[in-house]
Amino acid sequence: MKPERMMRLSKSCLGNAEKQAVMEVLDREFLGMGAKVQHFEQALTEFFGRPAVCVVNGTAALHLALQASGISVGDEVLVPSLTYVASFQAISATGAKPVSCDVNPRTLTLDWRDAELRLTHQTCAVMPVHYSGGVGDLDGIYAFSRKHNLRVIEDAAHAFGTTHNGKRVGSFGDIACFSFDGIKNITSGEGGCIVTDDEQVLQQVRDARLLGVEKDSERRYMGERSWEFDVLAQGWRYHMSEIMAAIGLVQLGRIEEFTEKRRLLARRYDELLARTNRLISLPHDYTAVVPHIYPILLPEGTDRNVVRSRMLDAGIQTGVHYQPNHVLSYFGHGKTLPLPVTDNISPKLLSLPLHPDLSLADIDYCASKLIEVING
Ligand SMILES: *Cc1c(COP(=O)(O)O)cnc(C)c1O
Repeated sequence: MKPERMMRLSKSCLGNAEKQAVMEVLDREFLGMGAKVQHFEQALTEFFGRPAVCVVNGTAALHLALQASGISVGDEVLVPSLTYVASFQAISATGAKPVSCDVNPRTLTLDWRDAELRLTHQTCAVMPVHYSGGVGDLDGIYAFSRKHNLRVIEDAAHAFGTTHNGKRVGSFGDIACFSFDGIKNITSGEGGCIVTDDEQVLQQVRDARLLGVEKDSERRYMGERSWEFDVLAQGWRYHMSEIMAAIGLVQLGRIEEFTEKRRLLARRYDELLARTNRLISLPHDYTAVVPHIYPILLPEGTDRNVVRSRMLDAGIQTGVHYQPNHVLSYFGHGKTLPLPVTDNISPKLLSLPLHPDLSLADIDYCASKLIEVING
């Protein structure tokens, strides 16, 4: 029997204000990169307390941040295997090699002690991934990076709004990259941004997103473009559009609302799932973390596909964040040191529905159904 309603794992949460903002852009009939993008960047710069540069998606943000850090062919970047394939593709897009690292079993974020074992003379940077919104031992990662003279490009795609030591992710550190894709904590349709106070990186990513056309960003903000110009480096067509920026601006204004709702729902899951000792949730401090996903660890030996199909029968979509990247043909790189935590944990991971349009009653339904399924 088909359930009447399908509860989605994640979704865009859009209201009339977003629709109206898009209509206004369409009415102006200027869709490329212009004043709206500049306005969105100014709003983000205020949010983070340091400059933000908007691009077409989070993967492009990571790619440009790496390129502007001078990472290229022959270099190696340390990255947790347990991440979205976007982190890996962004690294390999520069010609560098993503080196799979293990994660801390509690936080599922980069274990810098494991990363240290994988250092070579080619290692240039580390890309910590703020899994589900938590930053793990980010202080330890920065100390490790300083010690070995590595750049840090944070994949903060899950962590928009999260704070660490009372400061917003993106407001401190080397370079942070965010995604505004449809299901992230805020969306601009597609979209992403690079946040840093490194002036050289900022100038390079501003040019590189517009095919490398020198200082074209300033012209675009004024609704103009460069006709005679120089190109100093490889560029890409990675700029944001006015439609995207218009959606993003409205969504940024809703971050408090989204944050509160995501935290409320995640806390409810914590409370309900703690009633069984067979499921493990991430130990997030929800006064700091804005949860992007709600992953749990299933009991040893559970057939995840059976659980997923029984949840789906009950009208509940689930997800897997993530299949690790070191098992992929393109990124396996033959011999690597083992990744015991990732290999042990990844088959047990299951993500439950989490987005601001769910109610507490929806969470109660998902949690009780899951407990029923694993005890059944
Ligand atoms: C979403 C995401 C990205 C990439 O962002 P896009 O906007 O989809 O390109 C990168 N890393 C992680 C962990 C993500 O979840």
